[in-house]
Amino acid sequence: SILLEVNGLSKVYPNGYEALNDISFVVNKGEFVCIIGRSGAGKSTLLRCINGLILSTQGSVRIQDTYITDLSEKEKLAQRRKIGFIFQEFHLVDRLSAIDNVLTGRLGYTNSFFATIGYFSREHREKALECLGRVNMLHRASYRADRLSGGEKQRVAIARALAQEPLIVLADEPVASLDPELSWSVMGDLRKAAKELGVSTLVNIHDIDTAKHFADRIIGIAQGRILYDGPPALLTDSL
Ligand code: ADP
Ligand code: ADP
Repeated sequence: SILLEVNGLSKVYPNGYEALNDISFVVNKGEFVCIIGRSGAGKSTLLRCINGLILSTQGSVRIQDTYITDLSEKEKLAQRRKIGFIFQEFHLVDRLSAIDNVLTGRLGYTNSFFATIGYFSREHREKALECLGRVNMLHRASYRADRLSGGEKQRVAIARALAQEPLIVLADEPVASLDPELSWSVMGDLRKAAKELGVSTLVNIHDIDTAKHFADRIIGIAQGRILYDGPPALLTDSL
């Protein structure tokens, strides 16, 4: 079943730069899709239009029955709870433990204060631990985020996204700051956890070999347009 539908999406930035031009694709429930393209191709812009962080100029984004592109700012905030976001630079709260970082995900990343005063229920904590376990980070649950390695930080960030019980996870260059070996292990954990939970995932990634290895399907973009949409095996090296 279709979970995400992007239809005729275009984005022109205020300075007149056209970062996306007539992008259309659908993502099914549980599908793991990698978006590839050089730096500047429009990958980040696409993810930011899907989660409503920036406004598209034309076209629509639908997640299940909700047209994101029709929502008010307030409605978008509520909708964003259903979208897990993973960043290149992790964006953990340094002085909080791994588990408290995961718990803050439920509040949309900003209210980490609540984690520190024990606002969360036992059920929330159990859910957070379950998600840390899915990415092999249970043994680091009580470590402060600033004591974790890069790979560990990104695993915690993945657990945080999953603890939101999202409909879809969007990851913007999640392994670009990690060395190649670590990249593969973190991508493997992300894919495995998403598949187990049946969560659709869109991953921006510039490394084609990594994309080919993990993706169910690859979308290749260049200069804001889709050049390829299909299985990894049929991708030629022209992108
Ligand atoms: P990618 O994620 O593939 O590297 P981006 O979506 O970040 O690409 O950027 C696509 C293009 O849009 C780039 O040329 C970038 O410089 C431009 N761009 C990104 N954000 C803005 C902005 N706020 N204003 C103007 N141009 C932007
Ligand atoms: P990343 O490489 O992590 O996608 P960028 O360096 O492309 O990030 O962009 C960082 C920030 O600067 C973003 O908020 C983006 O919208 C903005 N930005 C990128 N390119 C431009 C541009 N040409 N003009 C204005 N803002 C830009």
